[in-house]
Amino acid sequence: MQTPAHSAVAGPLTYAAASALAPGTLVRVPLGRRETLGIVWDTGTEASAPAGAELRAVAGVLDALPPLAAGWRRLVDFAARYYQRSAGEVALAALPPPLRALDAAQLARRLKRSAGAEGPAGIAFATESIAPTPEQSWALARFDAGTGPFLLFGATGSGKTEVYLRCVQAVLQADPAAQVLVMVPEINLTPQLEERFHARFAATGDAPAVVSMHSGMTPPQRLRSWLAAHTGRARVVLGTRMAVFASLPRLRLIVVDEEHDPSYKQQEGARYSARDLALWRGHAEGAKVLLGSATPSLESWHASRPASADDPGGRYLRLEMPQRVGAGALPRVRLVDMNLLPQKTVFSPQLLAAIGERIARGEQAMVFLNRRGYAPVLTCHDCGWKSECPHCSAFRVFHKIDRSLRCHHCGYAERVPRACPACGNLDIAPLGRGTERLEEHLAELLAGLRRPDGGKVRIARIDADTTRAKGALEAQLAQVHAGDVDVLVGTQMIAKGHDFRRITLVAAVNPDGSLFSSDFRAPERLFALLMQAGGRAGRDAAHSAASEMWVQTFQPAHPLFAALQAHDYPAFAAQQLKERQAAGMPPFAAQALVRAEARSQEVAQGFLTAAREAASAAGLDASGEVVAFSAVPMTVQRVANVERAQMLLESSSRQALQRFLAAWQPLLHRTRADPAHKGVIRWAVDVDPLAV
Ligand code: ADP
Ligand code: ZN
Ligand code: ZN
Repeated sequence: MQTPAHSAVAGPLTYAAASALAPGTLVRVPLGRRETLGIVWDTGTEASAPAGAELRAVAGVLDALPPLAAGWRRLVDFAARYYQRSAGEVALAALPPPLRALDAAQLARRLKRSAGAEGPAGIAFATESIAPTPEQSWALARFDAGTGPFLLFGATGSGKTEVYLRCVQAVLQADPAAQVLVMVPEINLTPQLEERFHARFAATGDAPAVVSMHSGMTPPQRLRSWLAAHTGRARVVLGTRMAVFASLPRLRLIVVDEEHDPSYKQQEGARYSARDLALWRGHAEGAKVLLGSATPSLESWHASRPASADDPGGRYLRLEMPQRVGAGALPRVRLVDMNLLPQKTVFSPQLLAAIGERIARGEQAMVFLNRRGYAPVLTCHDCGWKSECPHCSAFRVFHKIDRSLRCHHCGYAERVPRACPACGNLDIAPLGRGTERLEEHLAELLAGLRRPDGGKVRIARIDADTTRAKGALEAQLAQVHAGDVDVLVGTQMIAKGHDFRRITLVAAVNPDGSLFSSDFRAPERLFALLMQAGGRAGRDAAHSAASEMWVQTFQPAHPLFAALQAHDYPAFAAQQLKERQAAGMPPFAAQALVRAEARSQEVAQGFLTAAREAASAAGLDASGEVVAFSAVPMTVQRVANVERAQMLLESSSRQALQRFLAAWQPLLHRTRADPAHKGVIRWAVDVDPLAV
């Protein structure tokens, strides 16, 4: 009888049990001097126990709970193998925290209270009041007839959510025990979606048919949702990336909304991609998978390419919905060439005039800048001092509201000095601007304007700083929806997902930074963000004829903007894929990063280089299929006084890269254990990294 262990990379541990336990059973086992939660991974015979060792006994069996299904255990095993972690780590991270602390009797009580034995929740399907559009009908028919995976490529406002709802309904109706997993990038940003699912799939009994699963929930809430899903009672699980590991014994469909969103990638521990695992899980468990986006990841776009004369096409079926519902037009995209304006112009006169017109008509505008705080740097014009973080290779951001300098990497904060710390000059000034300063500046520029009711213009800002308090975001969004706000200023937080009905103008004031980023995915992300942001405008057909998306740029001739103006994601994707293919980048190659942290770059890079040499000595790269590049400092190379380095691995074959990583793993551990590398603080592998 074995349970997966905690430690970084180790197989299951073996324990003795009085009676046979089914695989997937939760148990309490002694580990060192502690007692911990374990999962029976597989059962052995006495003969398979390690010889000579005296086995410790299982301390308790949580047999009130049905065992975790074989499908779930296979998912965990796969994720652990693919992302180079231990199954124990992945499995335990996937269970709700309170489960780790409960003993058998407490768990039995909990289960009784949440009425787990009730069986699958019945659903009173709300009668549809709206008829699907022809495009929606076509997509639904293809979904019904096919096995997938599907990529629903639908413009913003084309009614993708409605398609998800109907697909979910079809699956739930076809099988009264079927379960569906619906994943969204950030649930807090889309309370409307949660409401829509609850309204459509109301339970006939007391217990809800739809449960949520995300990190914003309290531990008891998470336990309740988890139990509801595990016992088969909950029919729909609506969650963020962590929900991909939900225990769903009757899983029949997985929906991944905004499948391109970077938040599907876990950025610590097992760095899994929930979208990729969803595809694997759907395939393994015979569940359909429906991905959706207006700007798919280039990976999914490529995987859904139609067949042609010399190409058998991709594995996914692409379902296109180019039209907005109700003849709502996509916003007209207007580029402002900032080269033609005086230096340091923040708002071009054209854009200001356009915003003013919207306000005068009682419409709303949204101004978007992907940088929070007042100014990214504070500087002394006399001696050139800049507000560097003493602990990081980064500048501290000036936040005017509490007159602080804050490092967004390590959190180090200080009051703004009265005078330049280097030369004593009193005249230190902000350089560049963030949302806080943008809001202040805009308030000055619009001070003379009036709303149709004669009142003053109301500006609101939504970013990570204004939404820290619980419920703050919801309250601010409600104000926008109620029309209490004329201009909304914010970071990418406001660009995603919201169904703002009265916003008719969206402006990106300074998006150029991403065009020159060293990250090859930066243009893809910028395009998605601008399309998303533009998608917030004109969602109400009554206004949409005149809705606009403004982009201020110093690079008006960049092909990205031409594609944006034409709302032509396929053209943008084709151009990007051509570049990626020529350069041998994903999706035409597989990548992995090994990162190392130490007090000095030398130590961090030295470890990576030694590990690479160990791989060569062991002949791991003999086939030449995997290329390991030299160790280099990370983009932000020092954070909280820790130096960070990375090594990129690339291969045209995913399998070859996987084989290499699996064989390399023990060598990395051995290299780390060498006293020569004792200065290494930590290291980790990131498979399919999002930023390289
Ligand atoms: P997307 O997710 O593609 O951005 P939504 O599903 O949110 O689009 O749909 C946009 C708007 O259109 C929503 O207000 C939705 O209620 C409405 N809608 C969707 N489908 C239909 C339909 N068939 N008939 C009328 N309105 C629809
Ligand atoms: Zn100075
Ligand atoms: Zn710092």
